[in-house]
Amino acid sequence: MLANNGLDAVTAYLRDNGMQRPLLVADPNTWAVLGQQLHAVLDEHNIVHETFVYDNAEPAADEEHLGQLAQACLHRPDCVISVASGTITDLTRYTAYLMDIAHIAVCTAPSMDGYASSVAPLINKGHKITFLAKAPELIVALPAVLAAAPRKMIAAGFGDLMGKITAKADWLLSHHLHGEAYCQATQELVDTAVQRSASLLDETHGDGTGADEESFVCEIMEGLIHSGAAITLMGFSRPASGAEHHLSHYWEMEALKAGHTPELHGLKVGYGTWIILQVYEWVRQRREQGELSIAEADAFDKATSFLPSAAEYALLAQKAHVSLNPEALKLSEGQVRQAVKEALYVRERYTILRLAEAHGWLDSLADMVQVRWNE
Ligand SMILES: [Zn+2]
Repeated sequence: MLANNGLDAVTAYLRDNGMQRPLLVADPNTWAVLGQQLHAVLDEHNIVHETFVYDNAEPAADEEHLGQLAQACLHRPDCVISVASGTITDLTRYTAYLMDIAHIAVCTAPSMDGYASSVAPLINKGHKITFLAKAPELIVALPAVLAAAPRKMIAAGFGDLMGKITAKADWLLSHHLHGEAYCQATQELVDTAVQRSASLLDETHGDGTGADEESFVCEIMEGLIHSGAAITLMGFSRPASGAEHHLSHYWEMEALKAGHTPELHGLKVGYGTWIILQVYEWVRQRREQGELSIAEADAFDKATSFLPSAAEYALLAQKAHVSLNPEALKLSEGQVRQAVKEALYVRERYTILRLAEAHGWLDSLADMVQVRWNE
């Protein structure tokens, strides 16, 4: 729920469902933003609970931090409440799954689409792997808190949401070319979210302050929740993730290998969406020159009629503070071009990059792609 009636929704849910041993999980930042407040609200309602606050402000979703959370569960909680954005929500969701207990997500930033999801991307021996996890029974997001989140996190949420544009084209391409099952109703859930956020940004978002900002972040948040729910409905991430996510995963693995902290997922996805839109435009030119088979050309036309141009998208991204500059994502130009050639191997999923690979076009695409807006 997106509501200003505050954290009472959490206490009501705990009481209504007979939960008596909740564990509240936060990091020092999210504790200050909302954790402490929730702790006080639970005390006011005489709800006995434990709290676990990570020592470091940026815990990773890895074995070490999962172990710390497991040790905090010694009193056998019957519910884990994450007060967080991405990483801690993922760690908590996975812990809830392992212990088979309820998960409640209290959101501190509209930065990613995993809040309603039933999977958790975790680092395992240096690799990011998607594990089954527990979708939250209750999601609480307060508009004023979302609007006060760091601008970069709001931009990341917008970027993750915009990635659904190319994810949809990839899904349709696979559907029309290879008969992969396609769910119109699930896609519509995602489409509505993307369109509403983009048009609200276009029409009302100004300098990032005031009432418009609250409407804008709520729209993004609802979109992200719907998108996560679409993943849960389908049981896999197809409606929310295509080649733009494969680029992001590739860059993330590069950063982990080099021992760097990767940039926010949604910022990489927002940038990757621009790159993949360029790939679609390039393939369209080949299609117009008759270089696709009849079946490929037919599927391509059906899958791409709704796509914006890369330039149109770039204007939207800029307005939402999604950087289209590799340095802002701690990436080199070489890493961007290398990902165009290799990112298709991070997942089995069929995307536009697989079509390009089948024609031997990946090297040309890697050379052609524009990596900086306004360079
Ligand atoms: Zn994503």
